[in-house]
Amino acid sequence: MKKRRIGILGATGLVGQRLAHMLADHPWFEITAVAASDRSVGKRYGEATPWRLQFPMPATVANMTVGPCEPPLDCDLVISSLPGGIAAEAEPAFAAAGYPVISNSSALRMESDVPLVIPEVNWRHVELIDAQRRLRGWDRGFVLTNPNCSAIALVLALAPLHERFGLESVAVTTMQAISGAGYPGVASIDITDNVVPYIESEEEKLEEEPGKLLGTLAGDRIASADFRMSAQCNRVNVQDGHLESVRLSLRSKASIDDVREALSTWTSLPQELRLPSAPEYPVIVRDEPNRPQPRLDRDVAGGMATVVGRIGPDSIFDWKMTVLGNNVIRGAAGAAILNAELLVALEKI
Ligand code: NAP
Repeated sequence: MKKRRIGILGATGLVGQRLAHMLADHPWFEITAVAASDRSVGKRYGEATPWRLQFPMPATVANMTVGPCEPPLDCDLVISSLPGGIAAEAEPAFAAAGYPVISNSSALRMESDVPLVIPEVNWRHVELIDAQRRLRGWDRGFVLTNPNCSAIALVLALAPLHERFGLESVAVTTMQAISGAGYPGVASIDITDNVVPYIESEEEKLEEEPGKLLGTLAGDRIASADFRMSAQCNRVNVQDGHLESVRLSLRSKASIDDVREALSTWTSLPQELRLPSAPEYPVIVRDEPNRPQPRLDRDVAGGMATVVGRIGPDSIFDWKMTVLGNNVIRGAAGAAILNAELLVALEKI
């Protein structure tokens, strides 16, 4: 297969760096363009980027010249890791110019004609692309978005339970890593020896997005799944990996073995199609009483699986459990790449 050429918007940021690393040896894709803000435009990527990964910067990308985040870009599709406000203008501009856009940004996630996709959970929602093109008058371009990083980890654990038993209500409390705020992110003086019980707009995203993700395609929109959702979000002093304490009630009775089995055996289309970035199992269940932990479990399955532990009965809801997801890999760069692989496999790009 001829490699698809990818342009990265926001290439110099934390998610952009992860994309540069993960796409360096990808069997289906190659990076042919990098773009960022005026601060970086015209510089070599290696010079403009405050590289923060433990791996060396890929030499091919290091020598590219950073361009502006506006079309045209020398690529077949665009992965955007721009801040929300900028993405709201740049992403539709690329789609209107004929580029498929896969976005990490929150700007367009909840627009009714924009698919919000976790490939294992709701791959069927890519069909919304046809409605989007028709409604917006775009011929080849479109925008498809990744969910919020905490929502991806959570919904990978909710989906198998929703499919088997139906969700009635979910309450989640997150402990989110500092890398979730990008670079340079949270000031060290604010986060050292501290927990910050507020992340702007995060609780709203975590309460809205799961319903759309677990919803069903209904013509030109997604009909949201019918369950109650409550979220509280905290920033904690962890480098990578969002930990989430989850309590939930189900519509039908399940035993602890049923819950455990539903989670640990669940696979979906990306596993059937053997997409290059798909983990063998999207949910990994740990039985030790003190797992998952960010430092120990965030890189399991290359950072592409949700790790679930501490499954047990709850005295107010039905069940409680602890969920961990790698926010920069499965929560952002890896999510976009898996969505790109899904779109290629379904012949949407
Ligand atoms: P970041 O480290 O702050 O990087 C932001 C990127 O956007 C940089 O490349 C920056 O370029 C570029 N940029 C900023 N202002 C711009 C402008 N006016 N015009 C063009 N480019 C501009 O942020 P990040 O963590 O990579 O996050 C990127 C996006 O992904 C955000 O929407 C975020 O919410 C989302 N996301 C992040 C995570 C995570 O774990 N970090 C997870 C899921 C989703 P310069 O270097 O030139 O300034």
